[in-house]
Amino acid sequence: MRFRIITLSCATLFLAMPVYPYGALGHETVGAIADMKLAGTATGAQVTKLLDGITLARASVLADEIKGWDRLKKDQPKPIILKNHPQLQEQLVAFWNANPPTKAKGSDAPTHKEFHYTDVPAVDGSKYVKGNLGTEPYDIVQMIPFCVRVLAGEEPETNDRKITKPVALILLAHYVGDIHQPLHVGNAYFSSAGNLVNPSKGGKSFPDHGGNGFNIILADDKNPKSNPQGDSKSGGKSSGKKSSKSKGNNLHSFWDTDAVVEALNQLEKMIESQPKHKGKATDEEVIAWLANSEPVEWKAKAKSPPTDWAQQWANEILPMSTQAHERLEFSNVTIKNESASGDATEKKMPDGISYTEWSGQRTQEELHKAGWRLAEIIEASLNTKNSEAQKPNSKK
Ligand SMILES: [Zn+2]
Repeated sequence: MRFRIITLSCATLFLAMPVYPYGALGHETVGAIADMKLAGTATGAQVTKLLDGITLARASVLADEIKGWDRLKKDQPKPIILKNHPQLQEQLVAFWNANPPTKAKGSDAPTHKEFHYTDVPAVDGSKYVKGNLGTEPYDIVQMIPFCVRVLAGEEPETNDRKITKPVALILLAHYVGDIHQPLHVGNAYFSSAGNLVNPSKGGKSFPDHGGNGFNIILADDKNPKSNPQGDSKSGGKSSGKKSSKSKGNNLHSFWDTDAVVEALNQLEKMIESQPKHKGKATDEEVIAWLANSEPVEWKAKAKSPPTDWAQQWANEILPMSTQAHERLEFSNVTIKNESASGDATEKKMPDGISYTEWSGQRTQEELHKAGWRLAEIIEASLNTKNSEAQKPNSKK
């Protein structure tokens, strides 16, 4: 197993972290940017206290790791994922138990997997409007502000979802990454004849669940010689350094993993091309570059509270979701169990940019903004007036 080293602050503290498959590299990158931005600040100290010393980079992958528990029987003990942090582990188990993988019949209780996405139609001019098609009461756009309110003391830690302050921080570290992945927000809808449609124009339509039902076929996949190692379906070709580990050719996984690998390869190349740079760019250099240079247009609307930010971010990324579909040709579409699946083939675009390269460029921007925004939303949540007001010595 390859290990990724993430620097926390001033090159004094290093953590060796395994690279987990399926999106973990993107989440760790976002968490590591926020760790670096908050190092040495009062907010950073509060984060360290709440997370019992684990970093945001490590915390960022836990919401996906507990999905592995969904395969266990209800009362089976959960594997220890936070060995030296028994209280955090206990709180994560309570969170999982309160939001179990399958709904009891007739119950409105959500399942924790629903918290990671929303399915707003990926069509021109689309916006997230609560209650409209593709939104759910407990989707990612609702769960981010829920976590913010818990951290700010506006929602009691004894809430029905069992989201305590440490769990809220763990979930935020993950959800802020997910909401910057276009297929976690926008969703394609197909007619029963298998054509891509705008569902708001009427007629029955079927979702593709964030691309999970589609095989992605890229132009460079057709030439196996372009990938002599055979360990990468699509990522890393334009710069060819990191290898991709996405699950087969699934379109959703492509954006979770291959696009992130491509983005980081592009960043490494950019750093290596600097006049004074020598040798290969390291992971620490990539994180430091992302943490130290301000992303374009990352700030929330003036005076908007942090509970509004998730909706702004969702609306910002929807046009990119639309383009992520428009750059593909859908074929062999079948409708089964109310869901669409089939093949998604890369189109030749007038800009001449390949799907892999384009997705890498967009993902660079998104990871960059997500890291800065994670630090900012944590800071804003922990420093609200209410959180100060909650401190008095109530023993409750
Ligand atoms: Zn997720």
